[in-house]
Amino acid sequence: MKITVRKGDTFSYYSQLFDLPLQLLLDSNPNLNPDALQPGSFVRLPGYFAEGIPINHGDTVHSISQTCRVHPDAICLLNPLVNIQSLQIGERLFVPKRASGRVVSSGVPYDYPTLQKDLRKVCELYPFIQSDIIGHSVLKKELVQLKWGRGTKKVHVNASFHANEWITTGILMTFLNDYLLALTNNIPIRGVNMLTLYEQTTLSAVPMVDPDGVDLVLHGPPVQEPFHSLVKSLNKESIDFKDWKANIRGVDLNNQLPARWEKEKVRKPQEAAPRDYPGDYPLSEPEARAMADLAFEEDFDRVIALHTQGKEFYWGFEKEEPPEAEDIAREFERVSGYKAVQYVDSYAGYKDWFIQEFRRPGFTIELGYGVNPLPLSQFDEIYEDTLGIFLAGLYM
Ligand SMILES: [Zn+2]
Repeated sequence: MKITVRKGDTFSYYSQLFDLPLQLLLDSNPNLNPDALQPGSFVRLPGYFAEGIPINHGDTVHSISQTCRVHPDAICLLNPLVNIQSLQIGERLFVPKRASGRVVSSGVPYDYPTLQKDLRKVCELYPFIQSDIIGHSVLKKELVQLKWGRGTKKVHVNASFHANEWITTGILMTFLNDYLLALTNNIPIRGVNMLTLYEQTTLSAVPMVDPDGVDLVLHGPPVQEPFHSLVKSLNKESIDFKDWKANIRGVDLNNQLPARWEKEKVRKPQEAAPRDYPGDYPLSEPEARAMADLAFEEDFDRVIALHTQGKEFYWGFEKEEPPEAEDIAREFERVSGYKAVQYVDSYAGYKDWFIQEFRRPGFTIELGYGVNPLPLSQFDEIYEDTLGIFLAGLYM
């Protein structure tokens, strides 16, 4: 929601009037000088939208402010062109409403168009979010990173590295939305003050690493050639793509990182396939390359990669993980009930490479239990189980 600055207005006044943390207001308006707000300029208020209501006989700003439980001056700010002293019946008045529910789609088959729509909604409603395009998929879909927080500790979470594990994107987007709601409504999540997390930690999220693969699993082959024919032939002409894990070229993105890649290369499929093919060389695929570049650019302290399934997580790689990884793993285990596994016979994944490259904690979390793609009937249970991991990932 936007308001127009009047002479004498300040961010701290808006912070009180709308009961919003000052830091969120500052971060939502990075282009304004907080010490000299210019009258007539627009200020964006996170977590609010303007609702138009019709003026009825006898209404005054005061009566409307009482009914809607907002300060009269908040209504004045939203209606700079309305003569507040004598409201005209039939006119519409805008009233600020605090967003108190999720705007992202939760518990649905989560494809790329759904992600695009949800990203637009959250970025509009919470303008302190920084949204960056960090690369493009083979089919030129945007790979988007959302980022927020003031902390020096940088925690990265990603989802849908594997196509038929798209439920992880919905789980991550739901957590992001709940974080934003808690932040702007000043409500803790499981006793954790989210504003404190915001100030201590910078969160980075890439909710869909393999958008082409996700859409293939959910909607079938793309119209574009040569990919339309390629995926059909790799899938042995079956029209069911639910077992597809790879990107649209048949390369498994989580077998693409230069961390003992050669080991996977010799024992995995020798050519493009619905799953497991490590590619012709490490980082041959634009999605994997974008994720590696991102880690260098952002210099993350920790990464958490969401996969399905198994209700367990992996936290080591070739004894290269730092000692604090074990403390975090124990906490993850405690808050989720998922099993902490230090080593697993798997290489060339994102967390493997992150641990090897940076010697910092990296985790692969296997959400839920069953056969991929996990059914949406598990969505709520998975969310409850992993909420603690998201929080601990940020506060540990
Ligand atoms: Zn996976």
